[in-house]
Amino acid sequence: SAIPRVALVTGTTSGIGEAVVKHFCELGYQVLAVDFNPAGEAVAQAAGAAFFQADLTDPEACRAAVAEANKRFGGVDILVNNAGIQHVSSIEEFPEDKWRQIIDLMLTAPFLLTQAVWPNMRECGWGRVINIASVHAQVASPGKAAYISAKHGIIGLTKTAALEGGEQGITANAICPAYVKTPLVDNQIADQAKLNGMEEQEVIEKIMLKNAAVKRLIEPSEVAGMVAFLASDAAGAVTGSSWNIDLGWTAQ
Ligand code: NAD
Repeated sequence: SAIPRVALVTGTTSGIGEAVVKHFCELGYQVLAVDFNPAGEAVAQAAGAAFFQADLTDPEACRAAVAEANKRFGGVDILVNNAGIQHVSSIEEFPEDKWRQIIDLMLTAPFLLTQAVWPNMRECGWGRVINIASVHAQVASPGKAAYISAKHGIIGLTKTAALEGGEQGITANAICPAYVKTPLVDNQIADQAKLNGMEEQEVIEKIMLKNAAVKRLIEPSEVAGMVAFLASDAAGAVTGSSWNIDLGWTAQ
């Protein structure tokens, strides 16, 4: 049987990243889970993955994460750029340090990680770069200038990687989910409830699902399923594309 694929996944202590690690481990892939939260070690171990602690806003830590995967597993076949944070504030009030932190984590780190895994993928003639973008890579909402700029930016990075990787067997794609049931969204629901004096259920229905045709939050496992398809041999003709899982949000 073939040598198992090696995947490096970022932002794996909870939510979408945790679900991706679990799904990849179930497929028999060798996985390096990368997160700055030390609690990620136990989460990775439970799934059967290795763990590397790194604050991905630090360029050296990005390169060290790939070096660790190379040392342990001999090279990365599949890179999933998933780590992300949110900060809600008007442009007028937006703190410059928050802007930089979000761009560093959600745009510069994916670039540096892609750059670092590229030589091995090129030599193997096979590679997969999968960027977890957002419906906010396609449309905007007020108060999320840095997040939306980083997410729109990563679509550009995805398209460029797809063009450069085309003749090398490397594909690059983005996934654009609407609201997924994760701690990142739980915090936003709590904040919005306080801000608007609403019950949490009301926030979900009136704010989060305002533009949704399918009136429910997305499960992390539903995103992981799409990641697994894009990572597979079957998806070799799919590149440079953005895959919406947005409950119909952008259909209107
Ligand atoms: P989450 O908060 O559950 O997970 C984010 C992970 O990133 C955590 O494990 C966190 O520790 C890690 N992380 C944060 N800062 C880091 C840093 N500096 N270095 C390394 N790791 C760091 O969130 P999630 O909802 O699972 O989000 C994952 C991705 O999916 C993000 O890019 C997010 O923008 C995107 N996304 C989420 C939703 C949603 O509704 N939850 C929708 C669309 C896109």
